[in-house]
Amino acid sequence: MRCPNRLKHFVWRIAHNSLALSCNLKRSGMDINRRCHVCRRLDEDGGHLFFKCKNVKQVWREMHLEEIRQGLAGLQSAIGVVEQLLDLDHRLQLKVLFLLNNWWHERNKIREVDQRRGASEIAYLSNWRAEEIIQLRVEKQSVPTSATQQKWRRPAQGFVKINVDGAFDLSTREGRWRYVIRDEEGSVIQTGAGKLEHVFDPMHVELSACIRGVRAAAERGIGQIILETDALQVKQAVGDMGFHLAVLRSLIHELKEMLHDEFISSSIEHVPRDCNQVVHGLAVLGASCSAGSNFIMMGAPDCILDVVASNLAGSQV
Ligand SMILES: [Zn+2]
Repeated sequence: MRCPNRLKHFVWRIAHNSLALSCNLKRSGMDINRRCHVCRRLDEDGGHLFFKCKNVKQVWREMHLEEIRQGLAGLQSAIGVVEQLLDLDHRLQLKVLFLLNNWWHERNKIREVDQRRGASEIAYLSNWRAEEIIQLRVEKQSVPTSATQQKWRRPAQGFVKINVDGAFDLSTREGRWRYVIRDEEGSVIQTGAGKLEHVFDPMHVELSACIRGVRAAAERGIGQIILETDALQVKQAVGDMGFHLAVLRSLIHELKEMLHDEFISSSIEHVPRDCNQVVHGLAVLGASCSAGSNFIMMGAPDCILDVVASNLAGSQV
């Protein structure tokens, strides 16, 4: 199982029935109320708390994992549940494990201080943590060994390249998007940066950055584009909608439609962070923008001139 040790330990506790569930405590002779702390209706055992309680069902639904929940809810033993968890595909496995673990913490919080979060917040956190781990692993694996692959490359003749990037601040739920559009010579045609509020997760900002960059190219009447992002999830989502939350699905749909309808030729590429340096250089601009007032410039601002020049020095088609 490739996941953080905290989760491995948690799975171990599920397998050995050693979570301090009311039914387990009662069995060990403690005189306690067996009711579920969350819904206060039925007896609390693992099957109820994690799969059947009406409150937890909502979290499973929000994460689009209902089918998996039903499969697990029908199992008779904790070992059976763990075996099924181990059989899941890695991405789903991480999501389910974070869901179960976050739900366990939620249950403890309710029991101790009677404090609750919404189902969507727990779903969001679980999803985000799982995607973060997947993304980190992919970045580690995809670091190319040859020096040439680590540099930005000019697009083929007749194409323009759009590099995009998004940054997300979990504490404020704010996001910064940036894009740089360059032609086949490597000259900067247009630059954009801005701020988003009420951001759902990192993927939300990445998708917004893609949409802004692609829309800007479409508005300029550009016919052939290559969109480059260092977020693999975006490339994957455009290929296959997967298990994304509703709010992201509409953005993915918008991006797909634009790529398909507005250009003669379009593609989306995942590149290592080093190839995307030019948009990281725009961080200063995004930071000074207030929400709603975007920075758009024909050509390149001073803060990225050095990166543009060094990209050109080492860039070949
Ligand atoms: Zn319950």
